[in-house]
Amino acid sequence: MTRTLVDVAQEASTCTKCRLSTTRTQVVFGVGDPDADLLFIGEAPGQHEDKQGEPFVGAAGQLLTRMLGEIGLTREQVYIANILKCRPPGNRDPQEDEIETCTPWLIEQISLIQPQVVVTLGNFATKFVLQTQTGITRMRGSVYPWHGRTVIPTFHPAAILRGGGEKGRQFGELQEDFALIKRTLAEPEPPPPPPPVTSLVEFEREEQPAIADDQLELF
Ligand code: URA
Repeated sequence: MTRTLVDVAQEASTCTKCRLSTTRTQVVFGVGDPDADLLFIGEAPGQHEDKQGEPFVGAAGQLLTRMLGEIGLTREQVYIANILKCRPPGNRDPQEDEIETCTPWLIEQISLIQPQVVVTLGNFATKFVLQTQTGITRMRGSVYPWHGRTVIPTFHPAAILRGGGEKGRQFGELQEDFALIKRTLAEPEPPPPPPPVTSLVEFEREEQPAIADDQLELF
């Protein structure tokens, strides 16, 4: 039987795979439309998220909600998740082993949601998803093809707030990135790739044995 996002969230809610389970209030799995075309990936829950069990509900979350509004979207129309599902104490940076232990939850989320566009918020999400060491300042402003989808890296809203919010230098770039998200979502979806032709004999066969899509797709 296929697992749903609700099943996965239920299982994650009692996760004790890393040290963060001993200091968290609750697991912050993710929120939004399980069939969303657009997925946002942040870093890790902060104090408010840990308390309320929902990602991006503090000041950074308010900015994210506002930026969504600027491109005509609500939180309910997208899906919002984080690299880490539990709050690191004192909001310290995620540690390498925590990312490694926690990200199978995120990969399962991506494989169930199947978003067309993935927006990585800040360095941690961008480095994990695109497997790069390049910082967000150089990565942002472009689209990156990724497993048949598009990744758009942008600044973490908390970094924008730290840099002076609307008056800061990077706010205009954040707005540009959200305009890019809107344009990318409006593009027609590319047609699915044709099945691989391994030999002419196979190609000429009338019926190919069905291989489930999810067996072929990593995500
Ligand atoms: N910052 C994040 O990266 N995620 C949240 O959920 C909140 C703040």
